[in-house]
Amino acid sequence: MNADVIVIGGGLSGLNAARLIHRAGKKVLVLEARDRVGGRTLSKKFGNSVIDLGAQWVGPTQDRILRLAEEQGLRTFPQHTGGRQILALGDKVSTYTGTIPSLPVHSLIELHLRITKIEKECRRVPLEAPWTFPDAEKWDAMTVESWKQNHVYTRGARASLDAAVHAIFACEPSEISFLYFMHYLHSGGGLMRLADVKNGAQQDRIFGGTQQISSRMAADLGRRVILSSPVLRVEQTSRGVTVYTRKTKYSARRIIIALSPTLCSKIAFSPALPVARDQLHHRMPMGSVIKTFALYDRPFWRERGYSGEVVSDGTCVRLAFDASIPGSMHGLLVGFISGENAREWSDRTPREREAAVVSDFVRFFGEEASDHRGYLEQNWIAEEFSRGCYAGLMPPSVMTSFGNALRDPCGLIHWAGTETARHWNGYMEGALEAGERAAAEVLEAR
Ligand SMILES: Cc1cc2nc3c(=O)[nH]c(=O)nc-3n(C[C@H](O)[C@H](O)[C@H](O)COP(=O)(O)OP(=O)(O)OC[C@H]3O[C@@H](n4cnc5c(N)ncnc54)[C@H](O)[C@@H]3O)c2cc1C
Repeated sequence: MNADVIVIGGGLSGLNAARLIHRAGKKVLVLEARDRVGGRTLSKKFGNSVIDLGAQWVGPTQDRILRLAEEQGLRTFPQHTGGRQILALGDKVSTYTGTIPSLPVHSLIELHLRITKIEKECRRVPLEAPWTFPDAEKWDAMTVESWKQNHVYTRGARASLDAAVHAIFACEPSEISFLYFMHYLHSGGGLMRLADVKNGAQQDRIFGGTQQISSRMAADLGRRVILSSPVLRVEQTSRGVTVYTRKTKYSARRIIIALSPTLCSKIAFSPALPVARDQLHHRMPMGSVIKTFALYDRPFWRERGYSGEVVSDGTCVRLAFDASIPGSMHGLLVGFISGENAREWSDRTPREREAAVVSDFVRFFGEEASDHRGYLEQNWIAEEFSRGCYAGLMPPSVMTSFGNALRDPCGLIHWAGTETARHWNGYMEGALEAGERAAAEVLEAR
């Protein structure tokens, strides 16, 4: 089967690229491995509501995703925030309101100083080519953990930084480079923009779920989207590219690969890709998340004055939010098991995970949390066509040594996927930006 352009990957990035190429009058095909589109977005009915087992929130400055959702007739609603938040550090569970956690005063002062510094310094990292930044080598040689050990002294400020890394990257601070961390923060508009609910990345949700955005783009593309077709091999000659799935072979003038780098490593390339790009595929592991939901007759925590938001350094749930849907009488809590916790809990049964998650909710919100009506989870680490979430991460030395291979086309192969985005890297907005950029590259190429 022939096309002008083949897009590999029917997530937000690939579908956005395909729809723009189609609009430009070119023949496009999307090959998607799963039997559904949407990739790291996945919306399912649970109780009488549709919930997001993958990406969930949108926020200010995420203009592409907000515009597209609006064009598709989708409506947003604010993340519930009213009430006290919970901070569970060690054996201590405390509550607070606003954005200042309940920490000893010396920890709070240090936290304020460090946040101010990070906010200022991250803006110095160029979004386009972070490896050109004067301190790039130095920052890329250390992890966020080693930076923390050298610059953050109080227990409370250290725990807050760990919590932010878990919430934003779904990994341990020892797993990512400080340069990558600062670039990622800048790409989304700063630490507080990424961490906050109001005026931040967790501000709003989409009625009916975020997967609808991909489903609607795919519906517009119709038969140009081919499901259940994992690409196994890509062969490139000077005349074009041939793409092989298990049963079929497709040819195109150019292709766009809209996958995270780690998933690209599962595809065989002939001739071999340039070394820097090939190495990148092996050096960007995904974050680790199990997203869990507990269903209740009503959001009982609100009656007790809790917002549902929890930050914890415990061994199971690290982050929780009220996930209830306006108009539904049911209460929903979402709990994120992330980083090392996610890897450890991956090897347990769903029932064991359910018991541990509910036990954490009891610790946070009281005994009533044990009376849940249902439990649902999605282990993204175990997903063959995601291999983790929220996004591909960069350990030390990757950004400075291989970062310039992220977007550079390899002959007739172009790269998309949120990991290649300049703005909102790792987010749905970044996925759309990357698809737009790759589509423009292909359309401009002769
Ligand atoms: C639990 C979770 C929570 C998140 N929360 C948020 C949030 O609140 N807000 C936000 O903005 N972002 C969030 N994200 C991140 C967001 O989901 C991603 O940034 C975005 O969806 C990535 O889109 P993509 O198109 O780049 O990649 P993907 O969605 O990964 O799309 C890649 C597609 O390629 C397919 N594929 C894989 N291998 C092959 C192959 N060999 N051949 C063909 N197809 C293949 C996959 O099945 C997939 O459909 C979250 C992610 C997760 C998992």
